[in-house]
Amino acid sequence: MQNTCRRLSIWLTCCLLLSVSAQAAATSLDGPLIQGGLIIGTTTPGASVWQDDQPVRVSSEGKFLLGFDRDMPATSRLKIRQADGQIEQRILPIQQRQYAIQRIQLPNHKVAPMTPEAIRHTRRDRRLLIQARRRNDDRQDFIAGFIWPVTGPISGVYGSQRILNGQKKRPHYGVDVARPTGTPVVAPAAGIITVAEPDMFYSGGTLIIDHGHQLTSALLHLSELSVRVGDRVQQGQLIGRVGASGRATGPHLDWRIKLRQHQVDPQLLVPPMTGVTK
Ligand SMILES: [Zn+2]
Repeated sequence: MQNTCRRLSIWLTCCLLLSVSAQAAATSLDGPLIQGGLIIGTTTPGASVWQDDQPVRVSSEGKFLLGFDRDMPATSRLKIRQADGQIEQRILPIQQRQYAIQRIQLPNHKVAPMTPEAIRHTRRDRRLLIQARRRNDDRQDFIAGFIWPVTGPISGVYGSQRILNGQKKRPHYGVDVARPTGTPVVAPAAGIITVAEPDMFYSGGTLIIDHGHQLTSALLHLSELSVRVGDRVQQGQLIGRVGASGRATGPHLDWRIKLRQHQVDPQLLVPPMTGVTK
């Protein structure tokens, strides 16, 4: 009897191990399950993936991206249909964050577009941004990871609630690095330049790099752009210079990352800066 029990328990353990390793081999997720987090998933080639019922691009190697925006609820649903029709569903627990409150004073003409010309300007900017973000390439320039586009004191963080001249505004989605005008800015990851505008109403000198799979970096308030739309850039390549253009209170780089409709936190993708003093 004892022997049978032992044999049964060994058999059960083996089964358990087998099923765990089979599942791990089918789909793995790399990255933090937290508001603002970005995950690189790997599944079997030919699988289809949905995040909260939205289809997610899966590369020919089975790579896919999940993003959790600032106000993501405490769970996100992941559904994977393997090529053989088998369906795997997971409820991902998303860690909830507390965000800082940031109060800013700006001259009124910089807060909102007041003149018809300024309104036209913001509409044109918005069209350019929407058009650029429609692109959905199979490139996986995000696979090599990200580096800081510029290093320096962090003067603004992801998610903070902004109170502009006493009024509650959209939260801040970028990480701000304070550096003097003219400081070189490099590409945080490889990609293709999809926006290179010297003078957007809110963001001034603006670059967008498309890293593939609808993952984009935006670099804002630049004083100089060193690349053009359509250029292919490598990680670490000079792409522009820090400035204070657009709605900025002083020279800094604002770096944002967007995956599909999710604004994610760039700071979660790079190691902490070392040797930088405030
Ligand atoms: Zn900013």
